[in-house]
Amino acid sequence: MVPKTEKIWMDGKFVNWDDAKVHVLTHSLHYGLAVFEGIRCYKTEKGPAVFRLKDHVERLFKSAHIFTLKIPFTEQEIFEAIKETIRVNKIDSCYIRPIVFVGYGNMGVYPKNNPIQVAIAVWNWGAYLGEEGLQKGIRVKTSSFIRNHVNSNMSRGKVAGYYVNSQLAKIEAISCGFDEAVLLDTEGYVSEGSGENIFIVRKGILKTTPLTSILEGITRDSVITIAKDLGIEVREERFTRDELYISDEAFFTGTAAEITPIREVDGRTIGSGSRGPITEEIQKLFFDIVNGKVSKYHHWLDFV
Ligand code: PMP
Repeated sequence: MVPKTEKIWMDGKFVNWDDAKVHVLTHSLHYGLAVFEGIRCYKTEKGPAVFRLKDHVERLFKSAHIFTLKIPFTEQEIFEAIKETIRVNKIDSCYIRPIVFVGYGNMGVYPKNNPIQVAIAVWNWGAYLGEEGLQKGIRVKTSSFIRNHVNSNMSRGKVAGYYVNSQLAKIEAISCGFDEAVLLDTEGYVSEGSGENIFIVRKGILKTTPLTSILEGITRDSVITIAKDLGIEVREERFTRDELYISDEAFFTGTAAEITPIREVDGRTIGSGSRGPITEEIQKLFFDIVNGKVSKYHHWLDFV
């Protein structure tokens, strides 16, 4: 069960956690059009700090724009509402879930004039793929399901309905005894995880999928910056499943997954079968940054 906090922000007002309800004929529940974000707030010496909040709010509005959803609040209002939700719940580290959805009104695929609703919830959420996963790496299966075509998924948007494809992949991976799935794109190249972007290291060079079939991950962008600052060469270029098999290191990135090493793919050991040295170096700096220990990257933190 998700650990409850006290209040959820709904359409401009705080309501008690248990009262944050919608009608069963809420349009988004039936047709999958809702745009959302996953954001993390970390405990730092100067109090709770949200990682790259402005970028997340901006992506939420861009997701809405792709689907011509008119959010009845400004970016600044949502930015402030997120910080206020953390404050009223007196929580110093949390996962933050803003969601914009099509409310109750008409039924049928076309969203017509149904109200556009917004909610923001926060709760405590530890390591998404497990503490041990962060240390030792996880086991991954190439999915038999592929990422949707770039003209089916508008992958710049983070949209609820897309996660049906992710769930097919995740359910399959778990049922086969793996921790997570990696999906290929329509041309057979490696795309991303069910809720993560993917990186590999080969001969000291860091590679990640270009921005085609994937979500434009904010952790992905952070890792690219961090790696370049560490003097590591980074390439955004397509790679195949067998290049993943023979990579020296591999890892997933995401707000929930943070930086999770991959130690095995489809029964092939990756590198030494544990967290690789470049992964560890990037991961360590990432956690120092989000925990407010590196002043050079303070511009990525919004103190609550
Ligand atoms: N790809 C998918 C499909 C995701 O759901 C996520 C998580 N939001 C990511 C990539 C990583 O994005 P971010 O680093 O912005 O959380």
